[in-house]
Amino acid sequence: MAERCVLIIEDEHKIRDVLRAYLVREGLRVVEAEDGARGIELYDEQLPDLVLLDLMLPGMSGERVAAAIRQKGQTPIIMLTARSEEWERLQGFELGADDYITKPFSPREVVARVRAVLKRSGHAMMQDEPVCSIATVTIEPVSRTVTVGGVPVVLTATEFDLLHEMARHPGKVYRRAQLAALVLGYDHESMERTIDSHIKNLRRKLGDEARCIETVHGVGYRCSQTGSGEERP
Ligand code: CA
Repeated sequence: MAERCVLIIEDEHKIRDVLRAYLVREGLRVVEAEDGARGIELYDEQLPDLVLLDLMLPGMSGERVAAAIRQKGQTPIIMLTARSEEWERLQGFELGADDYITKPFSPREVVARVRAVLKRSGHAMMQDEPVCSIATVTIEPVSRTVTVGGVPVVLTATEFDLLHEMARHPGKVYRRAQLAALVLGYDHESMERTIDSHIKNLRRKLGDEARCIETVHGVGYRCSQTGSGEERP
């Protein structure tokens, strides 16, 4: 596999130094920016495979940087944040982050998540899977595009993987932990709420067709061709 590139946008140089050391050891190429404006410049220059983005940046906030990157492409973004309140977490996902890590973190944890996200996006490029559809939602694994009634819907990589996994097996009930392991690729701290956040955003983006994702109370989720969005016996 070609050398993968990670862009770190973080104003604290100590954190950048530690992350760079660990990621380089993983055989990754690392480029760094200490603020958002430089981060976006480097994004355009280097076309990284993944962005590690600090939320609390001087000048342009991490939120704005994420929004700017999302306008350019679907490169996975992992947010680094000292804020852990739930609404901020949700806000992070609304902005198109694929994952987020709360400070203080262990560099090993960051490496594990980077590896998981890169593995997913690498796999996705090699897949030659058939198009699948659920209700009027069409999922094209090769181009990683989704349309609802023929209209394109922009999903994050995580939202896409969640939908694709469940839509491939209509009727199958997935536990949240199972979805986290399949889609995020590791045991996530507070993984249930994380999966719930992604599902919530996914449903919002699917509009009326969100009913094809059913909540199975106390268990998890499933896709259904004739779903009501609610629990069914
Ligand atoms: Ca910071």
